[in-house]
Amino acid sequence: MRYLLKGGLILGETPADILIEDGRITKIGDVRADGAEVIDVGGRFVLPALADPHVHAREPGFEHKETLETVSWAAVAGGYAHVGVMPNTSPPIDSPEMVRALKARSENLPVGIHVVGAITKGREGRELTEMGLMREAGAFAFSDDGSWVSDPSVMLNALIYASHMGVPLITHAEVPELARGFANYDAVGIKYGMRFRSPLAEELAIYRDARMASLVGAHLHVAHISTPDGLEVALSFRERGARITTEITPHHLLFSTDRIPFYDPTFRVNPPIRSEADRRAMVDAFRKGLIDFVATDHAPHAYYEKEAPLTDASPGVEGLETAFSALYTHLVLTGEMSLRDLLVRMSARPADFLGVAVSLSEGSEANLFVFDQDAEWKVREEDLRSASKNNPFLGKVLRGRVLMTFAKGSLAYRR
Ligand SMILES: [Zn+2]
Repeated sequence: MRYLLKGGLILGETPADILIEDGRITKIGDVRADGAEVIDVGGRFVLPALADPHVHAREPGFEHKETLETVSWAAVAGGYAHVGVMPNTSPPIDSPEMVRALKARSENLPVGIHVVGAITKGREGRELTEMGLMREAGAFAFSDDGSWVSDPSVMLNALIYASHMGVPLITHAEVPELARGFANYDAVGIKYGMRFRSPLAEELAIYRDARMASLVGAHLHVAHISTPDGLEVALSFRERGARITTEITPHHLLFSTDRIPFYDPTFRVNPPIRSEADRRAMVDAFRKGLIDFVATDHAPHAYYEKEAPLTDASPGVEGLETAFSALYTHLVLTGEMSLRDLLVRMSARPADFLGVAVSLSEGSEANLFVFDQDAEWKVREEDLRSASKNNPFLGKVLRGRVLMTFAKGSLAYRR
């Protein structure tokens, strides 16, 4: 197939056409059609496709929430071409056979699916998985996401193996004994007598893992970082030469406890939504490049799992379809950061973490999306391609909308 994207703004700045032939970008500039299908994108942004290493595709075991196929549709609707899927499935992704099965299932899907293997068998925190064989089968990283690996000797061994293999270990940094509740430890939570997930749970977990990673020279990646104190610990180890990277979610960047109704189960997430002061500090760190990239922690749940009293609601929000528009609306249009900087944190850096290259250059595979930067839209359930609808931006108005996405060289989504 040959496509000519006519009249777009490359990276939101430079007017140019893009010719795509057999899945590759073959020419950028002033291009004539010559038999290609012409797609008029007049004046709209043409941007490198996004990548997200932290997604819950729920397969196998929870297909009523999401599958590899439905998560792919959600991803391309949001401008994504690559996602990393977490191993807290049922059974968990804790063997080389499971990794191979998921890779095989993903081959013909519209986005690149990259598999995170479990650190411990059954994600039970006791016995290490066959990490070497899982790595050979295609796992790009290891994590018991959803749970912290509490036993320090197990985690230390995992870090030693990860260091030998040169793969990142992703920590869900919450000491469980300090994170038994469902709300941030702040004035709002205290007032309503909620059970807490203290910011200290994150800070202490990061300290232990970063300290051990620095000892053995492993790459530790902190999932969904949410507290300034936790970030400070991660950065202090980085300054001393340790390989520590971090990611933050759109919901931790954009919501705080004094902006959301405390009883709304939609916003029950782990780690919890933090205070406005914490949120401001995290936005500031994100803007300065002290947090490496954005990950959605896309966590789909069925209605009946979310529409429950706060204490019973499943933790997590879905968000691949809205992540870019939400951050464009609330960080770029408000002048907090440039479009280029946002793209570095949502495309180049997470793609690098996944071990793939995404670039708008001649000769590259076509992984890009067209973004109507002026569109204003109210997020409705029918806009979500995920099998679940637990999106925190439902009913909210966002600026800028994904019009089409090329992923793995193919036109994978078009509104
Ligand atoms: Zn997690």
